[in-house]
Amino acid sequence: MEAGAGDGARALLRILRGLPGELRVQEPLAPHTTFRIGGRAFALYRPTTESALAEAVVRARTHGFPWRMVGGGSKLLVPDRGFPGLVVSTTGLGAWHEDEGVLSVGAGVPLARVARWGAWKLAGIPGTVGGAVAMNAGTKHGAIAEQVAWVQALLPTGRVHTFSPEECGFTYRDSVFRRLRLPVLAVGLRPQLRKDLAPLLVERARSQPLGVPSAGCVFRNPADGRSAGWLIDQCGLKGARIGDAVVSERHANFICNLGRARAVDVLELVDQVQHCVVSRFGVWLNLELEVVGE
Ligand SMILES: Cc1cc2nc3c(=O)[nH]c(=O)nc-3n(C[C@H](O)[C@H](O)[C@H](O)COP(=O)(O)OP(=O)(O)OC[C@H]3O[C@@H](n4cnc5c(N)ncnc54)[C@H](O)[C@@H]3O)c2cc1C
Repeated sequence: MEAGAGDGARALLRILRGLPGELRVQEPLAPHTTFRIGGRAFALYRPTTESALAEAVVRARTHGFPWRMVGGGSKLLVPDRGFPGLVVSTTGLGAWHEDEGVLSVGAGVPLARVARWGAWKLAGIPGTVGGAVAMNAGTKHGAIAEQVAWVQALLPTGRVHTFSPEECGFTYRDSVFRRLRLPVLAVGLRPQLRKDLAPLLVERARSQPLGVPSAGCVFRNPADGRSAGWLIDQCGLKGARIGDAVVSERHANFICNLGRARAVDVLELVDQVQHCVVSRFGVWLNLELEVVGE
C-alpha cells in the first residue's frame, strides 16, 4: 500500500498508525455499496474494535481530514469522482451479546441477523445496525427506534456517550447521529415478539426489485400522506431511463443500476423525476438517498 502513495496517503498512514484493522488507499467504493456505483475513496479504514473506530475519527478530525461513516452502503450514492477523504467502514464491528433481555451489538452487525433474533418489523432491510440507527430504518410495520434501549456514539468532543432513546432524536428516517454525523459504535436493542419472517420477505420480493443493484427508496415520502412511489408512478415515470439508471417498473421509488450506471445518470434521473412530480402535483420530492460527500 505504501508503494506509490502520495504525501496525503503518507500523512494518513501516520495519522492512523498503530490502530488495529485494515487500511486501503485509493479503494474503489462501488463494491462497498448496494448501488455498485461510484469512484474511489482516498482511503478506506475498517477497524476491528469500537475504540479504534472512535480514535480514527478523532485523529481525522484533529488533522482536518474529511471523513465519512459507511455501514452496508445500502442508502448511498458515491459520486463518479469518488470521495477525497477517509471512509470509515463499520463492517468489522460484529460484537453480539445478550444480557437481561437486551441485545448489545456492534454497529457493523447485519440488520438481517437482528431481524431474525427479534426485530421482525425490520425484516428484509439490508445494511448494518449502525446504519439503521442513523437512518431510523423501518417498514410500514415500525422503525428501529421502537426497539432501541441505548446507543453508544462518539461526540464531537471525542468523548463516547451512551444515548438514551429520548436523546437519539429519532424522526422519520433520521436521527441525531445522521444529522450531527456522530459515529454509532454499539447499540442495545429490546426484542419484539417473534413473527414468521417468511411472508414478510416474500411480500418485499414481490413489491421491490431485489435482484438488481439499487439503494432502496430514493425519495422521502411527502408529509401529505401520499407516497413518493405513487406520485412518480402517476407521472408515468416507471421505466424512465438515463444511461443504465432506470426507474424501477416494480417500485417507482427505486432507481436501479442495470449494469454500468454512473452517479451522474442517477442524479439526472432524480432531477427529471423531481421536476415531473412538482409540475404535476406541486410537491417537491426530497432525497432519502445520500450522496457521499454532500
Ligand atoms: C433493496 C433495498 C431495500 C431497502 N428497504 C428499506 C426499507 O424497507 N426501509 C428502510 O428504512 N430502508 C430501506 N433501505 C435503505 C437502507 O437499507 C437503510 O437505510 C439501512 O438502514 C442503511 O444501513 P447501512 O448500514 O447500509 O447504511 P449506509 O448506507 O452505509 O449509510 C447510511 C447513512 O448512515 C450513516 N451511517 C452508517 N453507519 C453509521 C454509523 N455506525 N454511525 C453513524 N452513521 C452511520 C452513513 O454515514 C449514512 O449517512 C433499502 C435499501 C435497499 C438497497
